[in-house]
Amino acid sequence: MVNPRLEINLEKIKHNTYKIVTDCRKAGIDVAAVTKVVCGSPVIARAMVEGGITCIADSRIENLIKLKSIRASKMLLRLPMISEAEEVVEYSDISLNSEYDTISALSREAAGQGKVHSIILMVDLGDLREGIWYEKVLDFVPRILSLNGIELAGIGTNLTCYGGVIPTVENLSVLTSLADAIRERYRIILPIVSGGNSSSLHLLYSGKMPPGINNLRIGEAIFLGRETAFGKQVDGLYDDAFAFYGEIVEIGQKPSMPLGIIGHDAFGSSPEFTDKGLMTRAIIAAGRQDIDYCALYPEDNDIKVIGASSDHLIVDITGCKKKYKIGDEVKFKMSYGCLLQAETSEYVKKVYI
Ligand SMILES: *Cc1c(COP(=O)(O)O)cnc(C)c1O
Repeated sequence: MVNPRLEINLEKIKHNTYKIVTDCRKAGIDVAAVTKVVCGSPVIARAMVEGGITCIADSRIENLIKLKSIRASKMLLRLPMISEAEEVVEYSDISLNSEYDTISALSREAAGQGKVHSIILMVDLGDLREGIWYEKVLDFVPRILSLNGIELAGIGTNLTCYGGVIPTVENLSVLTSLADAIRERYRIILPIVSGGNSSSLHLLYSGKMPPGINNLRIGEAIFLGRETAFGKQVDGLYDDAFAFYGEIVEIGQKPSMPLGIIGHDAFGSSPEFTDKGLMTRAIIAAGRQDIDYCALYPEDNDIKVIGASSDHLIVDITGCKKKYKIGDEVKFKMSYGCLLQAETSEYVKKVYI
C-alpha cells in the first residue's frame, strides 16, 4: 500500500448522506451536500447522490466544473468573483451572493448565455463573514429584482464559520421573518430559506428548527458524522468514513528536551517543551504539507502526536503496548481541518474503498 494515504469509505459516506437527507426531509428541509473539503471529488459526489442528494454545493467553481456530469443541481457557495462570472453562470445553477456589482455581472452573463441564473442572497446575522447586514436586506432586494436573467430564489445565512456564532431559534427566526417580509412587500415566492451548515443540525435534532427554514448546506456532518455547533457526534452517523495512514521511517530513544540554544522552528515560532525524560519517538513520513497534526488522532490510543515539520510527523510511542518497527503503518482519524489538508495535498494518495 502507498503512504501516506487517505482511505475513503464510500458506503459510510452514502449511509451518512442518506440519514441526514431523510432526517431533514421529515422537517421539510432540503439538503445541499457540500464537497469542498473533498476538493469536489466526483467519486464522493456520486456516493452522495446515491444517498439521496439532489444538490451539490462547493465553494470553488473549479470543483463544480469537475462535477459537471454528476446528476444534481450545482450550488456555488463562495461569493463569486466578477472575473469568474462566465463560468459561474455556465457551471452552477445557483450561487450565494451579497454584492450588487457581482449580481449585475452575473445578470449580463446570464443574458448573454440565454440563461436564468438563480441566486440566494446571503444575510449576515452576526457571524461577520459574508452577507448583507440583516437590517439592510429589505431595502437591497428591489435593486436585484429588476435585473434580467437573475432569479432571486431565496435568502440564506452562514454561521459558526468566522465569528463562531451558534445558530439559535432567535437568530434563525430573524432569517425566516426577513423571508416573510420580502415575500409580503415584493410579492415574490422566494422559495428557499437556507439556514446554514452543519452547525444548524443541533436545532433539527432537538426539534427546535424554526419552521420556515427549508434548506441546509451540509458538509462536515456527512463526512465526519458531527454537528459543529457543539462538536457532538450525531447518533447513527459514522465518524470513520476517512482514515489517514502514514508509515514509520525512524524509531529511537531520545530526550524530550532539545539539546542546545532554542531559537525559531521551521515555521518562525519558538517551540516550548516540557521535560518528560527519555522517550521512544517515531517519525512518520508525512508532515504539515499533508496534515494538520493538531487535528490528527491515532487509532492506537497509546500513541501521542508531538509535532510536525513540513514532511515529518513526530510521535511519542513510549507507552505503546504494540512493538512498532520501521515500515509499520499508523492509522489516524481526523477532524475537519486535517481532512481538508489531506485532501488538498497532492502527496496524499486517495484510496476509495
Ligand atoms: C463550507 C460551507 C458550508 C458547509 O459547512 P459544513 O460545516 O462543512 O457543513 C455551508 N455553507 C457555506 C457558505 C460554506 O462555505
